[in-house]
Parts: sequence; structure tokens; C-alpha cells
Amino acid sequence: TARRPSILRMAGGAVHFDGVKAVDGVSIEVRGGEVVGLIGPNGSGKTTTLNLLSGMLRASAGTIHLDEVDLTRMSMRKRVRRGVVRTFQSGRVFPRLTVRENVEAAALGSGLGRGSARTLSDELIGELGLGEVAGSRAENLTAGRVRITAIARALACRPRFLLLDEPAAGQNESEAVELIRSIRGFATDRDCGVLLVEHDMSVVMNTCDRLHVLDGGRTVAEGDPAEVRRDPRVIEIYFGK
Ligand code: ADP
Repeated sequence: TARRPSILRMAGGAVHFDGVKAVDGVSIEVRGGEVVGLIGPNGSGKTTTLNLLSGMLRASAGTIHLDEVDLTRMSMRKRVRRGVVRTFQSGRVFPRLTVRENVEAAALGSGLGRGSARTLSDELIGELGLGEVAGSRAENLTAGRVRITAIARALACRPRFLLLDEPAAGQNESEAVELIRSIRGFATDRDCGVLLVEHDMSVVMNTCDRLHVLDGGRTVAEGDPAEVRRDPRVIEIYFGK
């Protein structure tokens, strides 16, 4: 099968906080329908990379393109309008609204009409296993389900490129794998690229098309999960010492 063209391209991206090189010349490409896992030890620059791509932080060096559009100096608000959507580890939802209202609000906010917003929300709620809590207020959900609702909201925005911060936190391994596979199905169907940060190695190995490994703000390995698993530097980081 022909590889799809890349949607998101960061070249030599860097973020320096007076003296600290949190991200130091990282290049990442994500293609349509592809789920790329961003992994690495604590302090390796994963969160800073998400912030850099979403526009919460400005690049000290390097360029970021979405399709052919230069995002490098674009505000977060404008990036969102271009389809760069990000979720947070905590999961941000409206506590007083039901799950369905939360997801519909996101779909409406992205410009869909009522009917289409309802259709897309119902589809996402079903796909992400939220059916039985669709009518419950978000404030009454478990932390895990709040996170999934936040992911459904992000997908309802019809992203071109989706950034997920530990989407599977609070789920057991099989739930985590199922959740990320559902997200992957959505990405494939809609030609969306996904970059996710996830701590559980076994989850990323079982769900991601490619992995990008950071250490000390730099790329130490990238490739498909099997390849990365055999990389001596990855073995040292995760299993060494
Ligand atoms: P990770 O998400 O992989 O744990 P981070 O991106 O949070 O890593 O952090 C990368 C490095 O940048 C760490 O050394 C961290 O201490 C530093 N850092 C992150 N944010 C800031 C900040 N706002 N000011 C100064 N240093 C920061």
C-alpha cells in the first residue's frame, strides 16, 4: 500500500528555558491514519514537545508544518482552527453537562450543524464505549471515563492532527489497547495523524504504528515498535543500570 503523505512535520524543533534545553533539535513526521507514540523517561521532553506542537510554547528553533501550512509562529487558537487538537492528561470536560452534551458541544464548536453533531457524537460515544454513561453528567464519572470523554470531545472537533497526553491513564492494559485502537480506527477513516504520549511500553508496542523515543530532549530512536524494542539505546534507557 502506498504511504500517505505526512500531515505534520516538525524539523529541528527546540525549546530552551533559560539554560535548560527541554527539547533540542527534534524532528517528527506523522502521516494520515498513523498513530505515533512519543516515549522516553521522565524529563526527556515529551510534554514540552506536545506543548510545542499545540502552540502552548513557541519554538526556540526549528519549523512546524501542518500539510503545507507553516505553524511555527501561529498561536494555539489558530492552530486549533487548522485542526491541531490536544487533550490533557487530566481530561478537560464540562462537569455539569452529560457525556453526550459534552461531545456534542465540541462537534458544534467545530462548525457542524445540530443533526451532524448528534450523529458524530453518537458514533464516537459508541466507538469509545461510553454508551452506558452517555446520559450521565461528567462530574459523576470515574476519572478514566472523564479522560475518554475528553478524547471523544477532541475527536468530535474533527482534528487533522491530534495530540494525546496519556490517553490510557487510569485504564487497565486491555482497556488501554482497545481505546487506542479505537482512536486509530478513527484516524484511519478520517485521514487524521495522531501523536500520543504513553508510559506503558506494552500498550504502545501493541497499538502504535511507529515510536519516537526521547532522552534529554533529543531523539534517541524511532521506527516501528519491533525495531525500537531492539534498539540498544532504548534497552539501556528502559532496562539498563
Ligand atoms: P517529560 O514530559 O518527558 O517528563 P518535560 O517536557 O516535562 O519532560 O521536561 C523536559 C525538561 O524540561 C525537564 O528537564 C524539565 O525540568 C524542563 N522543563 C519543563 N518545563 C519547564 C519550564 N517551564 N521551565 C524550565 N524547565 C522546564
